[in-house]
Amino acid sequence: MSVATMHAQTLVLVRVACDDGIEGWGEATTIGGLNYGDESPESIKVNIDTHIAPLLVGMDARYVAKAMAKIRKVIQGNRFAKCAIETALMDAQARRLGIPLSELLGGRLRDELPVAWTLASGDTLKDIAEAEKMLALRRHRIFKLKIGLRPVTDDIAHVLAIKKALGDDVSIRVDVNQAWSELDAVVGIAALEAGGIDLIEQPLRAENMAGMKRLTDRFSVAIMADEALHGPLDAFAMATQGTVDVFAVKITQSGGLIPALRVGSIAQLAGISLYGGTMLEGSVGTAAAAHVFSTFGELRFGTELFGPLLLTEEILVEPLVYKDFMLQVPNKPGLGVEIDRQKLQALRRK
Ligand code: MN
Repeated sequence: MSVATMHAQTLVLVRVACDDGIEGWGEATTIGGLNYGDESPESIKVNIDTHIAPLLVGMDARYVAKAMAKIRKVIQGNRFAKCAIETALMDAQARRLGIPLSELLGGRLRDELPVAWTLASGDTLKDIAEAEKMLALRRHRIFKLKIGLRPVTDDIAHVLAIKKALGDDVSIRVDVNQAWSELDAVVGIAALEAGGIDLIEQPLRAENMAGMKRLTDRFSVAIMADEALHGPLDAFAMATQGTVDVFAVKITQSGGLIPALRVGSIAQLAGISLYGGTMLEGSVGTAAAAHVFSTFGELRFGTELFGPLLLTEEILVEPLVYKDFMLQVPNKPGLGVEIDRQKLQALRRK
């Protein structure tokens, strides 16, 4: 990414133990420590242990919304930490009720979700070979290219060469991760639009909402907000101002599962298209996001729930199922996943 190169990932996993013997799991994972956002794995753990967990002790675990309201009233920010807690509480509740988490969230409309793959080596031939391998495996046919580190003309040549090699049966998108100036963006997007690229993700700094609107007005290719979207209030502001065509919904960036649902509702009311984003979570966070996205009627741009596929270690007893370009949304009670506790213990950071 334009913000960081990652060789390892720290997952923050939360386990909530309830008096009735039911446990729930949640995850808060960030990209590149503090490179991407203002929470780090270490800050999330400290803030949960020190400030959030004590608020929950003694509360009735069956009333998840009340518990989250208490936390949200007392704790500012900390969206990732709140998301992990809400996920764990809702996982426990859905297990208690014997239903998949999706059914606590309004109900799933789909059992599988399209999953994009990221090509980020920066080497054109290597990226083409990787995409062809994914197509042959029937794992991905949507590819997102991470650009923004190099001069715009170099990035454009790289993207268009890949598009040309892979043809019209695949969807090619770019994620600039805020790296461009508005002048860069005007030049870059014009070339990408002409070359048949489907989606331009967060070309400008997250704060530059006016600039994003100018790009959305100027170009017909879809412009998507990612880093600019921190939950329902941002979604509402962007929806009323016509800032972008697409929202990348992320459960952690939204501050939880229910706020992520609200982002989805605002988008659907405003005619904004949806894309299911990731913070490169492991299997727990990915399953949680899949349950949320399965409830979206509109999911035109699919998802990027490939986090577990990037990791070399599996922490579930049974891995999530990726098949025929799709991620299957788990359908057992709760998140529908079972943690391998021994594996987890072995991977735990000292
Ligand atoms: Mn992004």
